Amino acid sequence: TPIPDYLDEVLDTLRDDDSGATADYIPELANANPDQFALSVTTATGGTYSAGDTDAEFSIQSISKPFAYAAAIMDRGLDRVLESIGVEPSGEAFNELSLDPETNRPKNSMINAGAIAAHGLLLGEHADPEERVDRVLTLFSKLAGRQLRIDDKVFQSELETADHNLAMAHMLKKYRILTDDPHEVVTGYTRQCSILVTVEDLSMMAATLANGGVQPRSRERILDADTSRQVMSVMAVAGMYDGAGDWLTRVGIPAKSGVAGGLVGVLPDQVGIGAFSPRLDKHGNSQRAKRAFERLSKDMGMHLFTPS
Ligand code: GLN
Repeated sequence: TPIPDYLDEVLDTLRDDDSGATADYIPELANANPDQFALSVTTATGGTYSAGDTDAEFSIQSISKPFAYAAAIMDRGLDRVLESIGVEPSGEAFNELSLDPETNRPKNSMINAGAIAAHGLLLGEHADPEERVDRVLTLFSKLAGRQLRIDDKVFQSELETADHNLAMAHMLKKYRILTDDPHEVVTGYTRQCSILVTVEDLSMMAATLANGGVQPRSRERILDADTSRQVMSVMAVAGMYDGAGDWLTRVGIPAKSGVAGGLVGVLPDQVGIGAFSPRLDKHGNSQRAKRAFERLSKDMGMHLFTPS
């Protein structure tokens, strides 16, 4: 079967799974149409195949974390970033503080504490908060190959209910992992999470990682190869939070989920994958997007550790 027909078939077989629920701690996300479902695959040579609600825009949320981490590494150098954020699995929920008991660093950059720390590293010490937001918006737009924008309603809605992230940011400030005002950093991080994307944007961003940092369509080098490797490794270790081990062993596609229902996955040298459906399982990962990845892995032999 041609690839688009195959992708349609995957969506059709999974569409009747209406288990899970939209995120309710961010009021604006609770209102999303839960039936939306879309899937996109971009190859390392820049061919994109998509199915379902491919025009649906949704906030990137935690899928911003690997790409903002890449920006922090390029801005500050890996050694400096490692002083502030670890690379170990936390085995905990996305909103756990999870600090390393010896160094007080967040365990990794995929949980909120680590992602807030990464946002606070962007550009340099005491950088302008607006410029940090521009930094990620510009980078994500280059990775996606089109100009992206921020959803202000999602941003406002999430900022109004950001007490948990604010509490963690204050803790990070106490341990000097954050050097700037916690409120400013959380505001910038929340804007970063409110950037709107489609599944095609996600598959293109992931295909750039799969290519070691070269955007498959523009052929522009956007991330350096070492940074791409670092980011993909941390996604494998911690991208699916407390379900990361189960995910890597069964599905074998380094991935990162977002609480709006997006899911991005990357197979080095091969493909970037983006999926979207708003209902989440108990770990906060999109139920149908997760199952779409399971199908792709099984049908196309995509598990990372399948010898070729
Ligand atoms: N912006 C969300 C938060 O900080 C991101 C969480 C997620 O997508 N898992 O709570």
